[in-house]
Amino acid sequence: MRFDYLAPPTIKEAISLLSKYDGKAKVIAGGTDLMNLIRTKMIKPEYVVDIGHVPGLDYVKYDDKGALSIGALTTIRTLEMSAQVKERHPVICQAAAQLGSMAIRNVGTIGGNLCHASPAADTAPSLIALGARLKIVGPAGERAVALENFFTGPGQTALQRGEMVVEIQAPSMPPHTRGVYLKHSIRGAADLAIVGVAVIATSNGGCCRNVRIVLGAVAPTPMRARNAEEALEGKEIDDALIEKAAQAAADESRPITDVRGSADYRKEMVKVFTRWAIRGVIPKEEAVNETTHIIQRGEK
Ligand SMILES: Cc1cc2nc3c(=O)[nH]c(=O)nc-3n(C[C@H](O)[C@H](O)[C@H](O)COP(=O)(O)OP(=O)(O)OC[C@H]3O[C@@H](n4cnc5c(N)ncnc54)[C@H](O)[C@@H]3O)c2cc1C
Repeated sequence: MRFDYLAPPTIKEAISLLSKYDGKAKVIAGGTDLMNLIRTKMIKPEYVVDIGHVPGLDYVKYDDKGALSIGALTTIRTLEMSAQVKERHPVICQAAAQLGSMAIRNVGTIGGNLCHASPAADTAPSLIALGARLKIVGPAGERAVALENFFTGPGQTALQRGEMVVEIQAPSMPPHTRGVYLKHSIRGAADLAIVGVAVIATSNGGCCRNVRIVLGAVAPTPMRARNAEEALEGKEIDDALIEKAAQAAADESRPITDVRGSADYRKEMVKVFTRWAIRGVIPKEEAVNETTHIIQRGEK
């Protein structure tokens, strides 16, 4: 395990190094994913570019319209604990709280979680459901990419030569909008998701609008369950409709069988967790969240 360690003091220098050593260099932020890949010889970079010393990439900010900007180096723990995020985008805190152990959350960054591009990344489903965008900086300047289009395969992203993610942006949540992220895993947050489900919807006067359902760990990338969304959009929600949407989500998921679960089991769990998550965003069904929490902890 030999590589040259480079610690550029600015974004500009980081980009210049990444461009110069294209294909031979990897960015490191918290290192919780990258060092595993290096130790297990999955990758053998000649250069590791530590962006942890670049100032101004660790922040959580709201503008006067309620839009959220998160610096790429913000730790998962900071997001989990942010009082502002808890109030305005609680679904992000929910997802952050379910990522790994406290030790991992203290070191791992939001930029790293997204750029590692695991299909099971816990922060991705709720951010996609919120319509988040990434600010990317590279040799050609700055560009924005919808998070939904960022993932191109397991471990693969839309990042091009010399580029890095500097900011994650999420629009404000409209009034009467609620979000839920549920994770199903064998050992709670300490384990990767077998299934992750984020649901966001505006529910006022019985009708559900702006429905977003995003699944993690059941396709090569986090995916929108569009048929499930359509089943609910503009409708008054009842049990039959919830069942229809949950079944649609299971049908459109494309899981594989691996050490954490079979494809069939995952599909079944998509149905169960989508059902619970939908109930969680409908105000009168708030109690369902408590039930799922208990089941997730394996107490029932
Ligand atoms: C024991 C353990 C448990 C874990 N549990 C979970 C879990 O439950 N859920 C989950 O989602 N993840 C989990 N993880 C994975 C990991 O901790 C998270 O993905 C973490 O957020 C990664 O952030 P990092 O800063 O450590 O990334 P790093 O390891 O530093 O980087 C990860 C990847 O992203 C790239 N990168 C990082 N930042 C940028 C950037 N700004 N621009 C461009 N590329 C960048 C790196 O080159 C690398 O390819 C776990 C890891 C471990 C070791």
